Amino acid sequence: MSEIMNLKAKLGLDVFKPYAEPHITIKAGMEKHHLLKRAVLVCPAGLYSENAGGEVELSIDGCLECGTCLVACGSEVLEWHYPQGGSGVQFRFG
Ligand code: SF4
Repeated sequence: MSEIMNLKAKLGLDVFKPYAEPHITIKAGMEKHHLLKRAVLVCPAGLYSENAGGEVELSIDGCLECGTCLVACGSEVLEWHYPQGGSGVQFRFG
């Protein structure tokens, strides 16, 4: 009988080395922008959320560096670059 893993368990297989500074930031004043709300729906790691005030928040720990949020939302609302070498995600496949 196979066991179904939830998102947190799957992400727990990867290793995340701390970032010196966040490699993705929401641009100032764009927290309520309609384009940014797409990130809540598309981030495979579930790192974006919308608070009670309608602002989108990002918790960068666990980022897979996939770039989906940048493609979905655009550089108008997000500042996005890869983390410095030696930091960020290290994938584990089993
Ligand atoms: S790069 Fe991928 S995992 Fe990281 S915040 Fe964007 S959508 Fe989520």
